[in-house]
Amino acid sequence: MKFIRIQKGFDLHAAGRPSLELQRLEAPETVAFIPKHIRFIKPRLAIKEKDSVKVGSLLFSDKHRPDLKFRSPGAGIVETVHFGPRRILEAIVIRLDSEEEDEIFSSISEAALDTMDTKDLVARIQEGGLWALIRELPFKNIPFYHGKPPGIIVTMGTKEPFEPEPSVYLRGREDLFQFGIRALKRLTANVVVVLPSGNDAPDFLHKMATHTVSGKYPCGDAGVFLYWTKTDLDQKRNWYIHGQDVLLLARLLRDGRYPIERTVVLAGPDVKHPCHIETRMGAPLSHLAQFGTINGDHRFVVGGLFTGYPEPGNGYLSFHETAVAVLPNDKKAERFALFKPGYHKPTYSRAFISRLNPSPMTVDGRYHGEERACIGCGYCANVCPVDILPQFAFKTIIIGEMEEALKHGILDCVECGLCSHVCPSKIDLAQILKTARADLYKEMVHR
Ligand code: SF4
Ligand code: SF4
Repeated sequence: MKFIRIQKGFDLHAAGRPSLELQRLEAPETVAFIPKHIRFIKPRLAIKEKDSVKVGSLLFSDKHRPDLKFRSPGAGIVETVHFGPRRILEAIVIRLDSEEEDEIFSSISEAALDTMDTKDLVARIQEGGLWALIRELPFKNIPFYHGKPPGIIVTMGTKEPFEPEPSVYLRGREDLFQFGIRALKRLTANVVVVLPSGNDAPDFLHKMATHTVSGKYPCGDAGVFLYWTKTDLDQKRNWYIHGQDVLLLARLLRDGRYPIERTVVLAGPDVKHPCHIETRMGAPLSHLAQFGTINGDHRFVVGGLFTGYPEPGNGYLSFHETAVAVLPNDKKAERFALFKPGYHKPTYSRAFISRLNPSPMTVDGRYHGEERACIGCGYCANVCPVDILPQFAFKTIIIGEMEEALKHGILDCVECGLCSHVCPSKIDLAQILKTARADLYKEMVHR
């Protein structure tokens, strides 16, 4: 195993970290598929309201790529197909039957896996609706299959404060994970398993990991790993997949059924018992929250503290996400904040004495100020794990100088959100870079 040290990044001492305890929930009454959070797709619906579906029935495919299919996370009746502005498909809600039926897919035996044709394997993953679990760098898009990719990175965590721990979601599923890794090795010989250091990982995972990365958030990210290890330009187009998603792939291929199990973290200062929850894909947030949120005004952030997005309490888990943070959402302005030393403020800035406070601090859902002009403090560059100078990159994007932005390395950006988090001028640098990268993707890759 190789060891890599990532120098930059930032560890946020956030209160409400999840324990390693795993709680199980009863099945919810409804589940949903949320297409709007899957990037670079244009859904073509295969169902309508009041249709009956099984677990794994086709819900929609991509208009430009019919082999890119998305399947139902539950069996029951399609209750609502919700469109947003400009008829963007936002959500498909399914009211579950008491007895759920599964679609049956062909399964692969342990012995057949090592000799099976790669194209056949790709076709099975695509047909089974799980091709979107694999993403391609540098744009994080769902890859086109044009033959073997230069490599696949399996990420076992990024040190995000509220992400699921492999020691929890792999518990009792060692065989399944090994099967999934063997399947990925049929796609390319170059599969690396990247384990962040200090991770309470099971022994078998330590044996399987090819690299250990140490450092601060987001040291285990696939893009960060690649930035510090790539040896030729071809590797820029490496694919990656999250450790928990390897289990889903394996379940589909080995057992021949669409997998719906998800180990999700419910964490944050407004959760009574932050922990891991065994639930299912597309579960309602209100179903997870019944487990123990504190009364009061709070905000759900789905997908991690730095990279997640806000969802209303009646929202659902989306296809890729496995973390739900519940944050206080007190909208009252803090009185006399200027005259307080700020011993409990979660911050990167040395302006507050809390930089010396090692104890966990409450992160909330407020901006704590308004956007101002860049003051050139350099905090964003200090934390950027891939050596971008975000304070210059975002200015080139704003004035439309994309060639300059490319020279600043925006293709290396891993969209970790740190630059936005530390910026004292409240400039959402990460979002500006993300939007510019999405525009570049449409120009450079999408056909
Ligand atoms: S530019 Fe910002 S979002 Fe992109 S990698 Fe650097 S810190 Fe992260
Ligand atoms: S952190 Fe914000 S204010 Fe400081 S240099 Fe970067 S963009 Fe400018």
